[in-house]
Amino acid sequence: MGHSAVIIGAGIGGLSTARSLKRHGWSVTVLEQAAALPTSGTMLGMWPAAMKALDDIGVDALRRTDGWAHIATGAGTRLWTPAGRQLVTAPGGADLNLVSRPALLAALARDIDVSFATQVVDPGQLDDAELVVGADGTFSRTRQRMFGDRFRARPLGAVAWRGTVEGAVAEYGETWAPEALFGITPAGPHATNWYACIRADQTFNGPHLPHIVNHFGSWHRGVRELIDMIEEGAILHHGLFEAPKLPSYITGKTVLVGDAAHAMAPFLGRGACEAIVDGATLGRSVAQASSIEAGLAVFDKERRARTQRLVLASRLMGRFAMMDAGSGIRNAAVGTVGRLVKPRPRRDSTLPRH
Ligand SMILES: Cc1cc2nc3c(=O)[nH]c(=O)nc-3n(C[C@H](O)[C@H](O)[C@H](O)COP(=O)(O)OP(=O)(O)OC[C@H]3O[C@@H](n4cnc5c(N)ncnc54)[C@H](O)[C@@H]3O)c2cc1C
Repeated sequence: MGHSAVIIGAGIGGLSTARSLKRHGWSVTVLEQAAALPTSGTMLGMWPAAMKALDDIGVDALRRTDGWAHIATGAGTRLWTPAGRQLVTAPGGADLNLVSRPALLAALARDIDVSFATQVVDPGQLDDAELVVGADGTFSRTRQRMFGDRFRARPLGAVAWRGTVEGAVAEYGETWAPEALFGITPAGPHATNWYACIRADQTFNGPHLPHIVNHFGSWHRGVRELIDMIEEGAILHHGLFEAPKLPSYITGKTVLVGDAAHAMAPFLGRGACEAIVDGATLGRSVAQASSIEAGLAVFDKERRARTQRLVLASRLMGRFAMMDAGSGIRNAAVGTVGRLVKPRPRRDSTLPRH
C-alpha cells in the first residue's frame, strides 16, 4: 500500500511538498484555511536552486504560462542614496526569473486536491497520519505545538509596503537610507515591482499612499516617478517577522517546511525559493530512505542549517541596507567595492597583432 501525508497549508511550501510527494507515489491531503488560492500578488524572484527544484517537481512545462517573466538584466542593478547618488552598479548579464505569486500557486496546485476553507485548529488531531507536514507559514500553529510558545515568530521591528504597477521604468535597483529602503525590479516587459521598507514597531492604518509619499516622496526622481504610478487599492502592507532558530524541523512524524520552519526577512528574496526547495527535498528524502523517519532525518540534515543561515543573512542584509550610524562609511565602502569589481574594458585578444 502507498504512503499518505496530510499537509497543513496550501502556500508555496505546502503545494511544492504536495507535488513532490505525489511524484514519488504518495497520496496527499492538503488542508487550507483560506476559501481559495489568492488571485492577486506581487512578483517573486526565483533563484537558480528554486528553478531546479521546480523542474524536479514537474513545474517546468507550466513555466511558459502567463505570470512568468524571464528578463535579461544586461544593464545591471543599481544602488542609490535617496539624493540620487549612484553608489554602485552590480554587474549585469545574469538573467532574472520572476513569477507572480498567484501564477506560481496556480501552477503548483494543478492536479493537487486542496481542501479549502479547512482550518486546522489543533495539529495534534492529525497524529494518526503517517506524515504531517506543517506548511502553515510564519505564524505556524504546527511549530507552536511542536516546540511551544517560546518559538513564536518574532517581529523584526520593520514594516513593508509592496506592489506591482503597470508600465516599465528606466532603471531598476534599490535606494538605501538610514532606517528605510525602496526597491524597484522588473515584473515583465510592461509592469514593475516595487517594495518599500522602514523601521517601525507597528503597522500603519490605510490609506497607505500618503505614508509612502511621506517617507519616500522626497527621494530621487526614480522613486518619485514610481510612486506616481502606485494605485492605493494595489498596495500590500504588513509587518516583517522571522522564525526563531529551531532545534529540529522534525518531531516524530511531523515536519515543518517553508516559513513555518524558517520565516525570514525579505531582503534577500529567498523565502519562497527555499519553500520550493524544501518541498522537492522532502519528497526525494522520504522516497529514497529506508523508512519515513530516516527520510525526515535526511531532510532535516540537508535543509535546517542552510535555511537557518539564510534567516540570519536576510536579517543582516536588512540591517546593513537600513543602517543609521555608519551609513556614510558603508556607502563609501560599497562605492569603492563597486569600482573595484567593475569589469574593465577587455582588450580583444582575437585582433591580429602587427
Ligand atoms: C515583502 C516580502 C517580499 C518577499 N519577496 C520574496 C521574493 O522575491 N522571493 C522569494 O523567494 N520570497 C519572497 N518572500 C517570502 C515568501 O513570500 C515566503 O517565504 C513564502 O510565501 C512562504 O511560503 P509558505 O508556503 O511557507 O507560507 P505561506 O505563504 O504563509 O502559506 C501558508 C499557508 O498556510 C495556510 N494556513 C496557515 N495556518 C493554517 C491552519 N491552521 N490551517 C489551514 N491552513 C493554514 C495559510 O492560509 C497559507 O495559505 C517575500 C516575503 C515578503 C514579506
